[in-house]
Amino acid sequence: MGDKCEIRWCKSGEPATVRVTENIGDGAFRVDICQQCATVLDLNVGDDLPDANDVEKALEAHYPKDQPPYTWQPHNRPPDSKPGKWSKEVVAITNLGNLFKLTCIGGYWQRPAAMVEGEKVAWWIYQPF
Ligand SMILES: [Zn+2]
Repeated sequence: MGDKCEIRWCKSGEPATVRVTENIGDGAFRVDICQQCATVLDLNVGDDLPDANDVEKALEAHYPKDQPPYTWQPHNRPPDSKPGKWSKEVVAITNLGNLFKLTCIGGYWQRPAAMVEGEKVAWWIYQPF
């Protein structure tokens, strides 16, 4: 106990504090998981882990695929995108304090029609959902 969560798909980084049971074939094994996984999977101490496929699905839905920094980033450090592809849509705040949902490509920000002249992206942040 106290080590890392033993669930393969866990990304919480929290210590394992909940001991549950995994049944494989005829055997039952103790598995120590973190509180966050226990909450997502609706498990209490001593409960049986659901089928591995169900655990994987539940946790992949819970944890974002990549873990972007959920903090404001400056405009000149735009979100990652593959060459020639638009980035994931992010929330951007402009120098005039307006919010837009935008993507960018090759370091250039999309410019919605609602942006006025002289208005530009100042900071941006990944959407946390
Ligand atoms: Zn976990």
